[in-house]
Amino acid sequence: MTDATSTLDNLMHEERAFAPSAEFAAAAIADASRYERAKADRLGYWAERAREVLTWDTDFAETLDWSGAPVAKWFVGGKVNAAYNALDRHVEAGNGERVAIHFEGATGDSTSYTYAELTTAVKQAANAFESLGLAKGDRVAIYLPMIPEAVITMLACARIGAVHSVVFGGFSADALRSRIDDAEAKLVVTADGTWRRGKPSSLKPAVDAALATPGHTVEHVVVVKRNGEPTDWNADLDKWWDDVVPTASGEHTPIAHDAEHPLFILYTSGTTGKPKGILHTTGGYLVQSAATHKDTFDLHPESDVFWCTADVGWVTGHSYVAYAPLINGATQVMFEGTPDSPHQGRWWEIVEKYKVSILYTAPTAIRTCMKWGREIPDGYDLSSLRVLGTVGEPINPEAWMWYRDVIGSNAGKNGEKKEHPAPIVDTWWQTETGSHMIAPLPGVTHTKPGSAQVAVPGVSIDIVDEMGESVGDGEGGYLVIRDPWPSMLRGIWGDPERFKETYWSRFDGMYFAGDGAKFDEDGDLWLLGRVDDVMNVSGHRLSTTEIESSLVAHEKVAEAAVVGAKDATTGEAVVAFVILRGGAEEGEDIVTELRNHVGRQIGPIAKPRHILVVPELPKTRSGKIMRRLLKDVAEGREAGDASTLADPSVMTRIAQDMRS
Ligand code: ATP
Ligand code: MG
Repeated sequence: MTDATSTLDNLMHEERAFAPSAEFAAAAIADASRYERAKADRLGYWAERAREVLTWDTDFAETLDWSGAPVAKWFVGGKVNAAYNALDRHVEAGNGERVAIHFEGATGDSTSYTYAELTTAVKQAANAFESLGLAKGDRVAIYLPMIPEAVITMLACARIGAVHSVVFGGFSADALRSRIDDAEAKLVVTADGTWRRGKPSSLKPAVDAALATPGHTVEHVVVVKRNGEPTDWNADLDKWWDDVVPTASGEHTPIAHDAEHPLFILYTSGTTGKPKGILHTTGGYLVQSAATHKDTFDLHPESDVFWCTADVGWVTGHSYVAYAPLINGATQVMFEGTPDSPHQGRWWEIVEKYKVSILYTAPTAIRTCMKWGREIPDGYDLSSLRVLGTVGEPINPEAWMWYRDVIGSNAGKNGEKKEHPAPIVDTWWQTETGSHMIAPLPGVTHTKPGSAQVAVPGVSIDIVDEMGESVGDGEGGYLVIRDPWPSMLRGIWGDPERFKETYWSRFDGMYFAGDGAKFDEDGDLWLLGRVDDVMNVSGHRLSTTEIESSLVAHEKVAEAAVVGAKDATTGEAVVAFVILRGGAEEGEDIVTELRNHVGRQIGPIAKPRHILVVPELPKTRSGKIMRRLLKDVAEGREAGDASTLADPSVMTRIAQDMRS
């Protein structure tokens, strides 16, 4: 162990590791030469990937211009159209009849779009938006459910060169208005509504409320008819999608945009505070998203069926739903509903129906399925799955093993097992990074349950101490990125100072991600949670993740969140909030059992002082645990800003339990 005041303690050790099977490795898209090539010539590697994954209208003259650091210019002088690359070129190549999107609606309706059909729809939308006065550089707010029109709108904007700002459909009218104002959006695209857990849920009234007070920049609101809920109609602003899009011409010539032309603004999830409006540009973002989508998921576009469960309101839904799968010519599933409606087997039913081969989801969903029990997925044929991805939070080793054993090993609904389970790819990245930064190559990397493994080829990840010095294997510290990468953010919209202050001021010349991490004894990388959440117990710097993982490793625990609360003797004490698995009993016994379990597994220093059994944890709308609110409660304060919480009433209930 190193100096306890400067780095993070390394508490857990993982012995299990799984090598790719010989068959998988033999057919894999990416082999170890990717690492060698990128190491020998990082910029040369990215230039090659840029020309491989995109069709450039004008080739770039320079790979990287970093003279304006920390604002990078990638693929300087290159011109490219995102929508042409996602659509037209596949049709031109003779793949127009391949399915681009299998859409599965919340109420069980379904439709499919071929590449030819999606191309026409996007051309029509581009023509319709242009006839409403939208031009290159204008901003568009998109407030839609998970329906194909969301992707069509995003690509139509990209085609024209308009900048989209997708606002998650679960956000309030106030949140929508502040994002419209921040970007000075000219057009809003929305729907009458959608369904949440089988019940109609409106969207248009929130748009009406957002625009009720004057002073906004919106000139038109285009409304998709989705669930038929009645809506107020503002004749000055509102137009039905059906009246303007399908009636528009299906011919539209894409113009090539500069590689650094803004593609979109997207707000972060808001786990740590006020969301930041992250700006991405065209060339670099598309190159790294498409390259990582191929490599991390071993994408074979002619045969795979890819399904990313993320909403288009989050960065995962931008990079790995709207852009990369289409750039790569893949077939994907898009699902409007929730995993438990109308029953808890809904996802597995979809995997079986479309023979999904690559599934990409979040640890929170995996832990929820663990809580519901393996009998549910065991009842479906999931044998088509051959790669399983995860993103969004550290995945606890036991959740990882469950994902492998229950989902990745399923060879049919009769309880048959695959000889070689589907490899799991844990992917670390952020809204700011645009695409995968740390992830295994499934045909190359030995994967360990809970580890995100290694930097993506061409990405320079490091872990440093307080002074910015690299830590050694077996040590924890601050996760940083040492060199610019193609899909890096180009700033915070309208706030260059906040951009520098947030990411570039902590360590000289390095991007600081805000996360803690460690390298294990083999040099594999583990994410340890946010550094803001690090607990200082008797001079030991403990991260949240390992203690949570230890709790989740107990057979009675489904989910856990730990925080540090002020303590007179130890500085801070570990306080844990746990959700039990179905059937497990609450009470004094379980609390003692769990404390001892953590003490045994990772040492007395990590033993929680208090454990509270709760029915739910506070999560953002993207499913991430919001520990800062739990810390407020653990220290006896009123919980802070909960506006990005999926269900604000969770905190009231936890605060009551804490007091009683
Ligand atoms: P805000 O920055 O507003 O607080 P946020 O950080 O939750 O919001 P995102 O950009 O959606 O918004 O999330 C990125 C963060 O998610 C990372 O910094 C990291 O903490 C966490 N994360 C994402 N993927 C992983 C992963 N595979 N393992 C561990 N943590 C992950
Ligand atoms: Mg963040």
